[in-house]
Amino acid sequence: MQKIYTKVTDEMNFYEGNDPTALAKEYGTPLYVYNERILRTRCRELKNLVTYPNFVADFSAKANSNLAFLQIVRSEGLEVDAMSPGEIYIEKAAGFKSDEIFYICNNVSEEEMQYAVSEGVLVSVDSISQLEQYGRLAPNTRVAVRFNPGVGAGHHDKVVTAGKKTKFGVDPSCIPLVKEILKKYNLTLAGINQHIGSLFMTGEAFLSSIHSLFDIARQFPDLEFIDLGGGFGIPYHKETDEARLDLKSLGTELDKELYAFAEEYGRQVKFRIEPGRYISAECCVLLGQVHSVKENSGITYAGCDVGFNVLARPVMYDSYHGIEIYRSNDAAAQNGADKTHSTGDGHDNNLQPVTVVGNICESGDILAKDRMLPPVMEKDILGILDAGAYGFTMSSNYNNRLRPAEVLIRESGEAVLIRERDTLEDLKRHMISI
Ligand SMILES: *Cc1c(COP(=O)(O)O)cnc(C)c1O
Repeated sequence: MQKIYTKVTDEMNFYEGNDPTALAKEYGTPLYVYNERILRTRCRELKNLVTYPNFVADFSAKANSNLAFLQIVRSEGLEVDAMSPGEIYIEKAAGFKSDEIFYICNNVSEEEMQYAVSEGVLVSVDSISQLEQYGRLAPNTRVAVRFNPGVGAGHHDKVVTAGKKTKFGVDPSCIPLVKEILKKYNLTLAGINQHIGSLFMTGEAFLSSIHSLFDIARQFPDLEFIDLGGGFGIPYHKETDEARLDLKSLGTELDKELYAFAEEYGRQVKFRIEPGRYISAECCVLLGQVHSVKENSGITYAGCDVGFNVLARPVMYDSYHGIEIYRSNDAAAQNGADKTHSTGDGHDNNLQPVTVVGNICESGDILAKDRMLPPVMEKDILGILDAGAYGFTMSSNYNNRLRPAEVLIRESGEAVLIRERDTLEDLKRHMISI
């Protein structure tokens, strides 16, 4: 393989000796590739975020709910959140026990809520009416309530999930009403939770939101746990050495807050966090293949097989994903070595703007606009970085395309398949002909 532009994955030894062009050839593209070692590292970082002893990290499985992936997360001692019956189902299949799953639901039907109750999973409701619904379904049990602390944060309006302008959480002014309903149905409030939003790169908003949650907790003296939410950010601009979220100082600050609150509260109440992206984003590179390079009105387009049905984030949130370029020796020979302009060390300086697009019939199907990359050629394999969170889980069969396969590079370096690519038969599996 020729390394055309590979700085980020080289530095973290992402492929552990595997050749991404060979993986692309063996499993086909698009292909989600995961690195087990990096996943385990991220799990440990958050599990050990603080020294406070009664602390649990719940992986938020909506970021990535592949079965093998969840099995690894579980083996690291994390617990999980669920946002739907389907997530509860797959988490149980991965080996999580009922009391290791926390169902954080939002506007769900009685049937969905009943599913969680029947599975023995603790439910968090996020409105007064859903608390009433829960009370009717499961009186005399434990429940949790999600509050809106009035502080939000996030990289895009669509992922700010607290504050004055979002649909989430119970307003703290409703606490008397919450108490009334708890009493009416003889419910025990096991915990309170919040989630202020996604992708904060400094700890400030997170730490300040905690104070509002503590204020709420003070009004409920018998809580088992206080869940501080997720949203821990990762640096998506790795090629330009964007700084990481400073977990060490966030952990130190958080630790102080937790010990101080526990002291005031009179016991070491359990604290939880619910990270999704931080655990899952960086252990994954999505491989795609370039099938056409052309110029339209002065703009160079590299057309590949990673449409927004495969990775929705760029179109959905204007998100940035770093892109690398790998060239198989075959493709290099075909293109003629003289035309590749490659230095071959993965640090090509000959950067030019290129707009990387997918194969979906919509002009908005853009993966990266005016991205500075070395010249891209047909048959090149592209590596879309940090694709493990909200990547496969948001993929779809739009345009009747097949959702991709997923491969895991084990700590031994061996690459194993953890999800098969959809087949054409899958597309009509639930359809009924007339
Ligand atoms: C999505 C979500 C999370 C995880 O968010 P990340 O930004 O991926 O860490 C945690 N809690 C709740 C309630 C969520 O909806």
